[in-house]
Formats: sequence, C-alpha cells, structure tokens
Amino acid sequence: MNKKYYIILGPPGSGKGTQAEVLSKKLGYFYFGTGDLMRKEAENGTDLGKRFQTIWDNNQGELVKEEDVKELVSKTLNDLKQSKGVVFDGYPRSIEQQKDMEGLVDFNDKDWLALYIAVQDKDLIERITTRRICANCGKVFFQPNKRGIKVCDNCGGKLIQRQEDSQKITQKRITVYNDQTKPLIDYYRKKDILVEIDGRPSIEEVSKEIWEKLNEN
Ligand code: AMP
Repeated sequence: MNKKYYIILGPPGSGKGTQAEVLSKKLGYFYFGTGDLMRKEAENGTDLGKRFQTIWDNNQGELVKEEDVKELVSKTLNDLKQSKGVVFDGYPRSIEQQKDMEGLVDFNDKDWLALYIAVQDKDLIERITTRRICANCGKVFFQPNKRGIKVCDNCGGKLIQRQEDSQKITQKRITVYNDQTKPLIDYYRKKDILVEIDGRPSIEEVSKEIWEKLNEN
C-alpha cells in the first residue's frame, strides 16, 4: 500500500463517510470531507457558508454551486499539499470537480486509488430512512429501532433523524448521485485506479475488506 491519495466514492447511505474517517485515522492521512467542511463554513456564518446554507434550505438534496466548491477547495489546498496523504470523502462529486482537482494537484495515476463502495439503490432507501444520529456526539446508528437502541451508546444523547434522511430528500440525493457522481466510476475504471468494495456487510467487515484490498494495490 503506497498511494498518497484515496478517493472514497459511493451513493448516499453507502457508509463512505464512516469508512473515509476510519481509513484516514488508520493511515494518519488528512481527512478531506467536503460535507463537514461546508457545514463548518455554514456554522461559522462565512459568506461562503451562507451560500451553502441557501442551497440546503431551498434545494434540499442538490449539490452546491461548482464555483463555491472551488472556493472551498482552494481554501484547503495548503493542507492537502502539505499532508503526507489525503482521504477524500464527498469530493470529487462530478467529472467537472475531478478535472478541477487534476489542475490543482499533481494527478499522477500511480499515486491515486478510488474506492467505490457499492450498494444497490433499493437497499439505500431503507438504510438511510431508518438511520438515526446522536443529537449530541453525531454517532451514526443504522436501524436502531430494530435493534432496540433508544439512546446513544457513546454518550447517552438523543437519537434523531437528519432532515436530509427523510424519504423525499433521500430519493432526490440518490437521483443527483446517479446523474452527477456515478459517471466518475467509469472515469476511474478507465484510468485503472478503481477498486470496488461490497458495501452491504457491517461497518467492521467493510473496513476489513477495504484494508485487504488496499494491501493488494
Ligand atoms: P455530505 O455530508 O457529503 O452528504 O454533503 C452534504 C451536502 O453538502 C450535499 O448534499 C451537498 O449539497 C453538499 N456537498 C458536499 N460535498 C459536495 C461537493 N463535492 N460538491 C457539491 N456539493 C457538495
């Protein structure tokens, strides 16, 4: 395993965020999660953050504007360049963003690996709409009701549903993913930097498969 950059790719609800964080910690790499970075901008009330918030309030489930993504990425570019490695989560989310990134960093194919966490559409809806997060620490729980989990086992916090996890917005997010992000799979496949992971088993089993596949590549 000698890649410098790992792109974690997958539909909403595939668990890619969780896997990206696990992997970045394991490798000691910089975690570049655009969703988290955008939410921080919004919390800090920056102009950029306000533009993100407007999309989230009025066009739920859609991607924010490309020029605003570019501004966010350029803000973080130094961290990207200085770190010994990067795990990307939620970026690039379109061919256009991929091409932008190739212009910003030295995109030498042998330094990159894209990990595609595959889960079928029909399984995603159920996974997302039954998912709850801890209102206090943010821990994610899949199907807590089915498993008799009432409060967070980490901090005792209340479990809530994120607004974007409702049925209607979930459907929209999956459509946006299929239209804009999915074409990247073929793009990476053609470059021969794509590794496919079965996203259906438990978080631990998926992490294990990722680790094994990384050691082969
Ligand atoms: P996430 O936490 O990755 O699901 O992202 C939450 C929301 O942030 C998405 O629904 C988009 O509106 C926005 N977002 C995150 N990453 C990107 C990106 N790379 N390009 C455009 N919008 C993004």
